[in-house]
Amino acid sequence: MANLNDPRADQDSSTMNFQASIIKVVVGTDKYTYRVHKSYLTKPGSFFETALKKPWIKGHHRTIELPEDDPYDFHVYVQWLYTGKLFCKPLYEQEPETEERNYGLLFDLYVLGQKLLDREFQDRVVDATIAASHDTGYKESSKRLFPSDGVVDSLYRRTSKGCPMRRLLIDLSICQGGEGWMVPAQNDPDGINVEFLIDLATAFYKIQADDTIMDKLEELDEDPGCEYHHHGKDEECGSYGGKKIEAL
Ligand SMILES: [Zn+2]
Repeated sequence: MANLNDPRADQDSSTMNFQASIIKVVVGTDKYTYRVHKSYLTKPGSFFETALKKPWIKGHHRTIELPEDDPYDFHVYVQWLYTGKLFCKPLYEQEPETEERNYGLLFDLYVLGQKLLDREFQDRVVDATIAASHDTGYKESSKRLFPSDGVVDSLYRRTSKGCPMRRLLIDLSICQGGEGWMVPAQNDPDGINVEFLIDLATAFYKIQADDTIMDKLEELDEDPGCEYHHHGKDEECGSYGGKKIEAL
């Protein structure tokens, strides 16, 4: 009985509504078309809920265009809407660069969530980034990889001061970083984002003033918290079938 694979779930426990109307979303300059159930797209307060209230959308063929966005990012977003999973893990057998690309994709997804006003999606991307920070480029290596200067710059250029992903990046840098991470910047000082350097230096000064901050940061390695999520301290953390995270 213990090994029995039971596929059953409670009757009426599914939240999927396949009778909902379909919205066409056209993404990128090459106009990739996605057809998504309206009930998945229109979370309260989201970009799509607002967009679908526009009179010209109502009377039209219920098509929303996102010409400036990347179709692959949107593809991952739609997959998450339907499954609660982020299909973004790199198949990194040989190349450490694939790990590098993973951070790039995660940051792109975070920025997409920012545009679409989907804070729950952003919170899950934060969780994925914390998980990715434990990965190493090569299987035998214990050395964790860090986003390149270009990827960091790309995040900073598209987010604002105090953004949770920026805070996470700084905290990860303090916890896991080393002198070696600064070598590319030493070789190409113009390639590193100045705002990032200011945040990093400020964080180190804070540690000088209050070294208990390090204890809090070390918890990142053991139990990802809600420190970087959008929900309030008294609100339940959405888990979407993943690990339930207790609010701090
Ligand atoms: Zn949370």
